[in-house]
Amino acid sequence: MTDTYEVVVVGGGAAGLSAALVLGRARRRTLVVDAGEPRNAPAAHMHGYLSRDGMPPAEFLAVGREEIARYGVELVRDRVVDIDKGDDFAVVLAGGRTVRARRIVVATGLRDELPPVAGVAERFGRDVLHCPYCHGWEVRDRAFGVLATSALSVHQALMVSQWSGDVTFFLHTVTEEELADDDLRRLAAAGVKVVAGEVAEVVAEDDRLTGVRLADGTVHERAVVFVAPRAVPQTALLLRLGAELRETPFGAYPVVDETGLTSVPGVWAVGNAMGFAEQVVNAAAGGYRAGATINGELLMSDLDAAVHL
Ligand SMILES: Cc1cc2nc3c(=O)[nH]c(=O)nc-3n(C[C@H](O)[C@H](O)[C@H](O)COP(=O)(O)OP(=O)(O)OC[C@H]3O[C@@H](n4cnc5c(N)ncnc54)[C@H](O)[C@@H]3O)c2cc1C
Repeated sequence: MTDTYEVVVVGGGAAGLSAALVLGRARRRTLVVDAGEPRNAPAAHMHGYLSRDGMPPAEFLAVGREEIARYGVELVRDRVVDIDKGDDFAVVLAGGRTVRARRIVVATGLRDELPPVAGVAERFGRDVLHCPYCHGWEVRDRAFGVLATSALSVHQALMVSQWSGDVTFFLHTVTEEELADDDLRRLAAAGVKVVAGEVAEVVAEDDRLTGVRLADGTVHERAVVFVAPRAVPQTALLLRLGAELRETPFGAYPVVDETGLTSVPGVWAVGNAMGFAEQVVNAAAGGYRAGATINGELLMSDLDAAVHL
């Protein structure tokens, strides 16, 4: 049996739940399909969301799920594996169910691919961090290391110097020759120490980061390490639908208008599935905007159809 919804939201993070909340309150028959792997799951606390600063990410999403349920929005724990576009959309779930929808919101987020350095994955979100706006305040004034993954990591080393006066930039696989003279001057001006040589391991004792060990065995005492994971936008479904993508230094994201509408009529993309820089508050805002736009668009298209009967 195939269920029919007005809107299927793929992904139940901040972006998808926010779209679903608006749609539910607008009395739209809405289904959220969520695989349950939000990007910030490794972090114990979420920061920078006005009125929710410090809330555990899992609690934030649990409250969101309760809120959408009040308005009759359905949520299933499953993964969308395919979407076919005809007169409407056929949405295929990994669990075997196929549902139909008139509009689609893709809110599938992005995946962080961490550099393959021992200790990094285990400590990510705790004392191996990527985003000073998310966690910089909590670790302020500690001994920071920044693990370079490309010449772009200079930017991260400069940024985190706003939160600590003790920053060491480990060049790892990057050579000093790859850095622009201006960048070297900026690093010096910010008081950032530059250390050449491959990093072998992020060292921890008693479940606390204590240093960075280079391949030559030297250990530099550090309390926190910043890394820049490679962002892998979760755009497989959008590609399947033929959405146009744009290349950025942080991956290929869909071309969207100001409401999140992609180049495929009827398909919106919001949150990290639409852009690298979407923090939780921005993802929620984008979801809201898309939800409200879809409601208005469905109303007008139904009225137009009635007028032209
Ligand atoms: C360690 C860490 C800490 C962070 N801390 C902060 C912070 O303090 N403050 C802040 O503002 N931001 C923080 N961020 C960024 C934050 O995680 C993102 O801004 C936010 O998660 C984006 O929300 P989203 O809804 O777009 O994606 P997500 O939260 O990643 O949600 C996407 C959802 O879609 C699901 N999904 C994916 N594909 C499918 C599919 N095919 N079918 C069904 N479901 C699918 C996923 O399982 C997931 O549940 C942090 C990120 C990391 C990595």
